[in-house]
Amino acid sequence: MTDVDFHCHSTASDGEHSPLELANRAVEAELGYWALTDHDTIEGYLSLLLHDLPLSLISGVELSVEHQGVPLHMVALNFDAQNLAFNDMLVGQMNNRLERAQVIADKLAKLGFVGVHEFVADLGQRPVSRPELANFLVSSGQVASTKKAFDKFLGRGKVGDVKQVWLEMSKAIDCVKAAGGVSILAHPETYKLNRAKLKTLVAEFKQMGGDGIELPHEAATGQTYKFVVKLAKEFELKVSVGSDFHTDKQPWRKLGKTPTIAPDLIPIWSQFSV
Ligand code: AMP
Ligand code: MN
Ligand code: MN
Ligand code: MN
Repeated sequence: MTDVDFHCHSTASDGEHSPLELANRAVEAELGYWALTDHDTIEGYLSLLLHDLPLSLISGVELSVEHQGVPLHMVALNFDAQNLAFNDMLVGQMNNRLERAQVIADKLAKLGFVGVHEFVADLGQRPVSRPELANFLVSSGQVASTKKAFDKFLGRGKVGDVKQVWLEMSKAIDCVKAAGGVSILAHPETYKLNRAKLKTLVAEFKQMGGDGIELPHEAATGQTYKFVVKLAKEFELKVSVGSDFHTDKQPWRKLGKTPTIAPDLIPIWSQFSV
């Protein structure tokens, strides 16, 4: 089976390495297909089109969406990156993230942190995410570590975990489809939903036109892996795999390290022709 990685992040969002560094790693790992899936931006992907890379590069992005008030992530692949409505959607996502970063900066300033607004302003027009704010707090010497920044200020339920009105998942699916791409429910095991709720979500995702589901890493979560495989079969979703690589500081997420796909599952890339 072809080795692929359809989920990773570069400096265009909250990753540590440049798009080109990642592409070189993907080549070294001899990946058959590869996609860069930064949060709500294709700038990194577009920058790679200027290079003649010896691999099959697929267009990709990880979209922040919501369904019935629950924030979810969706990986979109193999779309036409020139599609106007798709690009409008991405501009909307970026503006959403910029507004949210301002609100988080206000909250952090109230807590006594300095320079957060300036940091956000200096980032310019990009879809700012919480890890970038965490890194700023650490690099400016105001918090000891990224983990502490999340545990105390930015993580789930903390002051900087600002609720955002994200794009409706059904709208995102329609937009991806109109641009010729496929929609994949990303890391389904991370939404803190019980099995019944996850099953309902997957059923609705399929009904809305979703194409695939990302397989969890079976080593870490054997039971969850089996459950997601069962859902993929039951709802006739194709499967996608990705490392969600951000940084070498998280050795459990390594570019190209992805779960195995049983022969009775249909890989999402079976329909790609690059
Ligand atoms: P955002 O899209 O701005 O809400 O940021 C979400 C990203 O923050 C995720 O994709 C993770 O990479 C990262 N993240 C979320 N929670 C934590 C945490 N507790 N520790 C470290 N990184 C986290
Ligand atoms: Mn991330
Ligand atoms: Mn995600
Ligand atoms: Mn991701």
